[in-house]
Amino acid sequence: MVNWKPSKYLLGFFYARYYKLTSIYLVPCRKFFYMEILKTFYHELLNFFGVSKALEILQAGDYSIFTTYDGVVSLIYPIIPLLLLLEFILGLIYKKPQLKVYKVNFLIYLFNRFIGRFIAIAMVTFCIGLFQKYAPFQTGNTWYWFVYGYVVWEFGHFIYHYFGHKIRLFWCLHSTHHAPENMNLSVTHAHFFLEAPYADTIRTTVCILLGVKPELLFLIMFIDGTYGAFIHVGENLIKDGRLGFLNKIILTPSHHRVHHARNPLYMDTNFCNLLNIWDKVFGTFQNEDANVKIEYGITREMNSGNFMDVYFGEIIALFKDVLKAPGIKNKLLYIVMPPGWHHEGNHKTAKVVRTEYLKNKN
Ligand SMILES: [Zn+2]
Ligand SMILES: [Zn+2]
Repeated sequence: MVNWKPSKYLLGFFYARYYKLTSIYLVPCRKFFYMEILKTFYHELLNFFGVSKALEILQAGDYSIFTTYDGVVSLIYPIIPLLLLLEFILGLIYKKPQLKVYKVNFLIYLFNRFIGRFIAIAMVTFCIGLFQKYAPFQTGNTWYWFVYGYVVWEFGHFIYHYFGHKIRLFWCLHSTHHAPENMNLSVTHAHFFLEAPYADTIRTTVCILLGVKPELLFLIMFIDGTYGAFIHVGENLIKDGRLGFLNKIILTPSHHRVHHARNPLYMDTNFCNLLNIWDKVFGTFQNEDANVKIEYGITREMNSGNFMDVYFGEIIALFKDVLKAPGIKNKLLYIVMPPGWHHEGNHKTAKVVRTEYLKNKN
């Protein structure tokens, strides 16, 4: 009988063949593979900086497009990513690099890159189709309808954001945004992937039911998205976020810094985005106090440099509370009551903490 145990020569033979094969086929493949990676990286970079459209227009040579809505959008869109880069570089120069925040927010950006955005777009389309027929009227194209649309949008934003802080389940979606312990433009990207669909469902529904035309809604979304990113500008780029007299008229980076603070005075204030009228109407408006230095972050003890903790920490904490709560009623209450609510009555909600602080101060 022939012994078919492969000898080392046989193995050597196969190895030689395999090696030859790999050198013929895989080396070009590997080259192709690296080329593809480089190409993908290049497109992702263009996508992040939002310059693809502007480059297309430049390549086509028809600069008159820059005067159209699409052209203007293509020029405004890259501003925030470029500022983010500048802020990052300034951080390195000033030796206040805030690397922990950048690292985690970069991971979040990668994680959210596709899925969250597509669900949000789908929800916006779905809500428009579902609710537009119930609107009592439709807005026109004049400036006063634009103002009306913006005020309505801010109202929708206020509702989404308020409940994002006051209902524990929604706080699980929103807390990722509040985890960073420094402020810079990368915080704009710190969101749990389901937050945008949740926010856009509420904001779109409110706008569409109150007659805001989809075209106007998209314009407002774009302006508000850009401004909403800008208010996360950190001290490395703009030290005083009050922006002079604007602090009295609109919501400035200073107001939004206050919103991101965990100091008792600042907790759960300034929910608006550009026009802070609804904060003033509902009593949640708070100016930055020169004597109370902002401390960014959330009150739960956490590791803000750990992606898993930033992204899933609140969900795990809620899960644990529900698990150990006695009775089905308490379990449900943990899900819908504000963060800090306790079934034994010793609540540590933002409202309790803030009221106590203000009482002791006076
Ligand atoms: Zn918030
Ligand atoms: Zn924010």
